[in-house]
Amino acid sequence: MTAETFPMYVGGAAYTPDRPTREVRGPGDGAVVGHVLMGTAEDVDRAVTAARAAAPAHRRTPVFERAELCRRLADAVAAEKEDLAARLAAEHGKPFHTEARGEIDAVVTAFRDAADHVVSLRSESIAVRDPAKRVLVQRRPRGVYSVITPWNFPIGVASIYYLGPGIATGNTLVWTPAPSVAGIASRLTAVLHEAGLPDGVLNLVTGEGPVVGNAAITHPGVNAVGFTGSTATGYLIAEAAGGRKPVQLELGGNGPSIVLPDADLDLAAAAIANGSFSNAGQICTSTERVLAHASVATELAERVAAHARDVVLGDPFSDSTTMGPLHTADLAKRVCAQIDEAAAGGGRILAGGGRQAGAPTEHYVEATVVDTVPHGCDLDVAETFGPVTPVVHWNTVEELHALVAASEFGLSGAIFSRDVGRAFALAEELPCGIVNLNEASSYWEPNIPAGGAAGTGSGYGRTGGPWSVEEMTEQQAIVLRTAPLES
Ligand code: NAD
Repeated sequence: MTAETFPMYVGGAAYTPDRPTREVRGPGDGAVVGHVLMGTAEDVDRAVTAARAAAPAHRRTPVFERAELCRRLADAVAAEKEDLAARLAAEHGKPFHTEARGEIDAVVTAFRDAADHVVSLRSESIAVRDPAKRVLVQRRPRGVYSVITPWNFPIGVASIYYLGPGIATGNTLVWTPAPSVAGIASRLTAVLHEAGLPDGVLNLVTGEGPVVGNAAITHPGVNAVGFTGSTATGYLIAEAAGGRKPVQLELGGNGPSIVLPDADLDLAAAAIANGSFSNAGQICTSTERVLAHASVATELAERVAAHARDVVLGDPFSDSTTMGPLHTADLAKRVCAQIDEAAAGGGRILAGGGRQAGAPTEHYVEATVVDTVPHGCDLDVAETFGPVTPVVHWNTVEELHALVAASEFGLSGAIFSRDVGRAFALAEELPCGIVNLNEASSYWEPNIPAGGAAGTGSGYGRTGGPWSVEEMTEQQAIVLRTAPLES
């Protein structure tokens, strides 16, 4: 693959202003995959202007035509699947065969689902006291959206949460992706335009989040913000928006996966391993914290460790690889430090334990299982975002609830038990937006509303399929005065 400079897109055309660039290196082999343009507030202003110019026509486009457009976009992405997956694997580091191709499928589904959901949106006529009035409450697009997305599913999250639903509902968008995945974002934007996306409906500005993302949020021409990323950045985003526009935040997670004494340990171990090691643990809903009853915890940890030893960590393009390197070297360093801290405090490493010896870059961290993780250490309470299963022991239900409360996050959780009634009652007590019973915390499909529990560090608002369609529209009540029939 040639080391191209990834174009931004403004008003339907590739936009390559004279800006400094930054090299993007693939985590798999360290080779240069391209150069990202470090955009400025001026570039954002151009993008917002283009989005505003496109807004009236796009909003007025009949909804069935917008749905048809989304289906064409889906078909175009499907036709480019192999190329997009190869670019994604090279730039992100996720395995081409087992994960990158799946993310392209998710993008296709996002646009197809958005088409279906938008034509199912319902308006309602409501009763009022005045007999001479009729009131229709309908949903309309919010206007120009600033969409800010993370690197872990660079085009999957963007498409499912915002691009498909946003385009389908008649919004126009200014997208600022994480700079380390600007290449795949740029290529997807090109594919969508080649398939007939009208000019200015989707504008892409690359660069540093605090520069271009911040300029988009604070721009007076932007009506609403959709953000997915870390909790710390999410708080900055909410502050920057300053209460002037709706902000939807999808933030970090460290959801508890609770194992009760009566759990089917084989089932739990397989699900937990899947939840911990998929996408190398770089999922907001990853299984990052297993709270297991002391009577079964070590047995469970050993079974998860057996799965960890089956994980093939390697080159993202190798047929045998089942887990790729971590996306950034800093993240790899942090995850290794978290493992070391837990081990120093008495955690027992049953599988993995750190960087893979002899790997081509510093990004390769082994599938790791740590048993008897000390309460309160980073592996217990912080977001790990790496391929680690920390097993924390508890003895009493009071102790379990105290452990749950010790983490600031409230995104997804899991409960493993043969007693579904008991598991259900416990699920209702968890401060989590999603709770999966006898399934990994990371299990999700876009028809399930995704988002954090109120008051936690995991954000607010809901995304995914129909939920994003709702989130990206607002209600408008239209009141009609009726006239008496002439006799
Ligand atoms: P991040 O917060 O570092 O960056 C996210 C995005 O925000 C990037 O595009 C970045 O450029 C931009 N950004 C950074 N600072 C900004 C600022 N001051 N103003 C405006 N934009 C700014 O997150 P990340 O490391 O890219 O992604 C990983 C995080 O995302 C994890 O915490 C993960 O849990 C979370 N995540 C959450 C969900 C969810 O559905 N809740 C889904 C995927 C990822």
